[in-house]
Amino acid sequence: MKNILNFVDANREEMLELWKTLVSIESGSYNKKGIDTIANKLKNILEAENFTIDILDFENAGAALIGKSKYEGNEKPICLTGHMDTVFKDGALEKNPFIIKEGKVYGPGVIDMKGGIVALVYAIKALNSINYKKRPIKIILIGDEEVGHANSNLSKVLPEEFKECCATFNLETGRIGNAIVTQRKGCASFILEVYGTAAHAGNDYEKGRNAILEIAHKIIDIQNLTNIKEGTTLNVGIVNGGTAGNVVPEYAKATIDVRFLKKDKLQEITEELEKIANKTYLEGTKTKIFCESIMHPMEVIAGTKELFETLRKTSLELGLDEPYEKTVGGGSDASYSTMVGVPALCGLGVQGKYQHTDKEYGNLESLFERTKLLAATILKL
Ligand SMILES: [Zn+2]
Repeated sequence: MKNILNFVDANREEMLELWKTLVSIESGSYNKKGIDTIANKLKNILEAENFTIDILDFENAGAALIGKSKYEGNEKPICLTGHMDTVFKDGALEKNPFIIKEGKVYGPGVIDMKGGIVALVYAIKALNSINYKKRPIKIILIGDEEVGHANSNLSKVLPEEFKECCATFNLETGRIGNAIVTQRKGCASFILEVYGTAAHAGNDYEKGRNAILEIAHKIIDIQNLTNIKEGTTLNVGIVNGGTAGNVVPEYAKATIDVRFLKKDKLQEITEELEKIANKTYLEGTKTKIFCESIMHPMEVIAGTKELFETLRKTSLELGLDEPYEKTVGGGSDASYSTMVGVPALCGLGVQGKYQHTDKEYGNLESLFERTKLLAATILKL
């Protein structure tokens, strides 16, 4: 283990150089050129580390990179994953270039998650420096995470790619305080639409069927499905309806965000929502409901606890703070891993704060610590 730690210490300058290079290529989710440039740069770096790399090209989305170390043996691969796109629009870099100041590193995407990519690359280099051959390593880096694979087929490809692995480490943004994400809620978006009858609010009030009134009753029923204790929440986040103050509204629409810890829960909630849609409070109104999108939860499954324990012990051995497990409400691509039965840990990238804003920063030392932690943990598996 000592040798991989020394390797990281000896390559600090080079690591910072790569971090700067990656941050200095703008790669917002709609900047296909920038994402493709990063993918190709990483392809070259990883091919030199004895990886076979496939670049998946998409017409309207940034490229994805799938790589595997050359390996002879029967062990299943360890997967290292993350994304190359950022939430930032072109031009963000000019106002907020890569800089290091008082132990903090700034720039768009610096921790979400270009720092994580550097840690991934140098963990691999460190392992290669000691001729690590125990298990194959698989890399999945994608270019449209921040937009939920809206314009690629990755939501179909990813489960297939994760399936063959034994464990997944996602180099997403690390949290200050050393929380490691072992569980992420799933998220589904539903649209509820109510059709009533329009009428003049003064002359024909009784002929009208108020779609807003009907949806108001239903919104209360929907919110009441929330069960904080079991981790299920329903949030009616957008309501639209009506055309003018003096018209009984003909139409109303609500957008509902559902979060859940176990994928079976979604079926249950879907049935409850359909029941609410089918119940009529105001005679003469009609209601439709449909699910617009689903992101599966990253679940604690067989192997998650052991994987976390290995990481926790390794962290203590390295003299780093003790990691603890955390559940969060937001999704990540690690959910595609647990979906196919491969345990995952997430949030292993550079620790910092304020991702998705121009105040985003990472702790400089954390880059080296997280690289060591990743490489040393892999060594123990
Ligand atoms: Zn991210």
